[in-house]
Amino acid sequence: MFGVEVLNELKFLLTQGKSAAIVSHRGPDGDSLGSSLGLKLFLEKQFGVSATVIVPDAFPGDMSWLPGAGKIKIFENSVEECSTFLKNTEVIFCLDFNQAARVFDMEQPLRDSPATKIMLDHHQQPEAFVKWTWSDVTASSTCEIVYQLIAAWGMEAAVDRDIATCLYTGIMTDTGSFRYSVTSASTHRVVAALLDTGIEQWKIHETIFNQNSQRKLRLWGYALAEKLVVVDQYRTAYISLDMDELERFGYEDGDLEGLVNYALSIRSMVVGILITRRKNKIRISFRSVGDFSVNKFARSHFSGGGHENAAGGTFEGTLAETLEHITSVLPLYKDQLAPNA
Ligand code: MN
Repeated sequence: MFGVEVLNELKFLLTQGKSAAIVSHRGPDGDSLGSSLGLKLFLEKQFGVSATVIVPDAFPGDMSWLPGAGKIKIFENSVEECSTFLKNTEVIFCLDFNQAARVFDMEQPLRDSPATKIMLDHHQQPEAFVKWTWSDVTASSTCEIVYQLIAAWGMEAAVDRDIATCLYTGIMTDTGSFRYSVTSASTHRVVAALLDTGIEQWKIHETIFNQNSQRKLRLWGYALAEKLVVVDQYRTAYISLDMDELERFGYEDGDLEGLVNYALSIRSMVVGILITRRKNKIRISFRSVGDFSVNKFARSHFSGGGHENAAGGTFEGTLAETLEHITSVLPLYKDQLAPNA
C-alpha cells in the first residue's frame, strides 16, 4: 500500500512524465502480462503517458490476444533498443517480481537506469532496488494490486473493458480460477468491479484454458502416464522431462504451465514438483498444499523461491542428479511430510 504522499508524488511524476517502462519477470505469465498491459493502458488513458511493456523473453501464444499485447517488447530480441529505452525513460514500473535478478539479462540495464522505479508485487522478501515498493503477499496477484493502486487514486472510472480484461486475466490465472487460498473477499470485490465494466469473463476463461493444442495434450498424457513418480513416504509426487522428451512432442513455451498441479492433485499429496531440462538448464516448479513452504524448500536446496505454496528453482547438474538431490533432501522434512505427520 502507498501512503497519500507517495500516491501524490507518483501521480505528479506521471502527469509530468512523457514515457514509462513496465517490466516484469522472465517466463511471462497471465499475471505479469495482465498487470503490465492493464497498467500500460491505464497510464496512457489517464495520464497520457506513453508506456512500453518490456518482458525479458517470449510469452506464451495463448496470451497474445490480450489488449495491447502486440506492442510488447521482448528484451532478448532487441537488447540495444530496450536497454536504451530503459536508460532514457522517466519511470519504470517493476511488476510481479521481487528481485532484480528475476529479469535475468535485463537486470543490469534496469539497475543502471536513473528512472524512478516503482515495484508492485506479491512475492516474499522484496529487494530494495526501487524507490517505492508496494509489496503485499496477501494479494492474490499483481493485477489485484494494480487495481488497488488505481482505486487508491480514486480513478476506478478509468478502468474500461480492455483494462479490466487484462487485470481479470491475471487474477484468474494466479488464483487458479479463484480456487487458491490467496483468493480473498477483497479479490472478489476487485473482480466484481472488473465485471461491472462488461467484460465477458467466460470468453477469457475459454481463451486461456480451453485452447489446448494436440501437441500439448499428448505431452501431458505422456508425462502423466510415463513420467509421474509418487513418493508416498514423503507425500510428494514429481514429474521430470528431459530435452529430448520435450522435443519429441514439439514442446513450445507455456506447454507445461499447470502440469505440476496434476502431480499435487493426487489424493494425500503435499508437494508436487515438475523438473525439466530446457536449453541445457534445469528448471523446477514446486507446489504445495497447507503449511509446507515450498518457498523455503526452493530457497534452501534449489537456488530459488517464490510463494509459500508455489515456488521455482534450479539446479546445476543433469536431470538424474537433480532427481537424486530431491530424493536426498526430502527425508529432512520427514516431520512435515511423512503420512502420519
Ligand atoms: Mn503474480
